[in-house]
Amino acid sequence: MSVRVVARIRPLLKTEILKDVIVDAAKSAGETTENKSIVRIPNPKKESEAFSFQFNSVYGQEATQAQLFDNEVAPTVKHLFKGYDVTLFAYGVTGTGKTHTMRGGKTMADRGVIPRLLSSIYRRARKVEKDSQGETQVEVSMSYYEIYNDRVFDLFEPPEKRTPAGLPIRDIGNGKTQVVGLTERPCTTLKEFEQLYDQANVNRSTSATKLNAHSSRSHAVLCVNVTQTTGDETRVSTASAIDLAGSEDNRRTDNNKERLVESASINKSLFVLAQCVEAIGRKQTRIPYRESKMTRILCLGQNDGLTVMILNLAPVRSYHLDTLSSLNFANRTK
Ligand code: ADP
Ligand code: MG
Repeated sequence: MSVRVVARIRPLLKTEILKDVIVDAAKSAGETTENKSIVRIPNPKKESEAFSFQFNSVYGQEATQAQLFDNEVAPTVKHLFKGYDVTLFAYGVTGTGKTHTMRGGKTMADRGVIPRLLSSIYRRARKVEKDSQGETQVEVSMSYYEIYNDRVFDLFEPPEKRTPAGLPIRDIGNGKTQVVGLTERPCTTLKEFEQLYDQANVNRSTSATKLNAHSSRSHAVLCVNVTQTTGDETRVSTASAIDLAGSEDNRRTDNNKERLVESASINKSLFVLAQCVEAIGRKQTRIPYRESKMTRILCLGQNDGLTVMILNLAPVRSYHLDTLSSLNFANRTK
């Protein structure tokens, strides 16, 4: 299992101004502008000082969806077809670009990691089939669920059909788990995938907070299963792409009781995630993946897979403390 942590600073929104930019990808001596791997942010207690955080790579405001995908995610597809699992996370405060990074916009250039990943998987599937002269067949299927208050809900089910306790998780041996009753849909083309994905996204639970009217309080987990069959041999691997719940400090968001329960659950699951990623990065043998539903379902760290954590950051002052805590979070995981 290996892990890469990359930071991405989103561009300014129309409502934000240049003078408020405080976070940048450092252009320190010896580094080219294409290969900046440091994020710099002022010390909130003493603005004349700056903190620097180093990552595997850093994408500045000008970075495109294509650059991020081509450098960080495209190389994982090869591993997926070798039978290893791939796990991609977008971590960050609400409004920093997690959904934009994962799902993206409507235009071709704006497409995020997920549609590009699927496109790449289908291309490779056709190549594997062709190169094997039809000996190997590749099938792709998907499931999509959200984890809200540590409960698992199938995003192919409309919200009114949910049972309050969510779906149970079961151990199925070999350190693997299964979500009981989760829908798995075959999707043979990109178009088919996109229809199913768009349909399921309508069911994501959102609730208003002060920070963002559609702030997402749940982790959205998309799993794409790739099954390669050659004769009577089958190889299954899974690419998971997770748009995590916002990591903001909820003491500042006018919380009511419901929000506080959500926050406690989000904080706990993100904390466990950080511990797992840290343990994987340090090649520790004990990874506390069973401590939260998400890491347990993903069996995080239980096989020779690849993990890419994308840390989404806003460049402006209004996010100063939250950005610093995001950077500290990610720093622990290296
Ligand atoms: P999150 O999912 O983390 O809450 P969003 O993905 O919704 O954040 O992004 C917040 C806003 O910033 C949206 O309006 C989105 O379109 C915009 N945005 C985020 N990242 C980028 C980017 N790289 N380029 C252009 N716009 C972006
Ligand atoms: Mg979002």
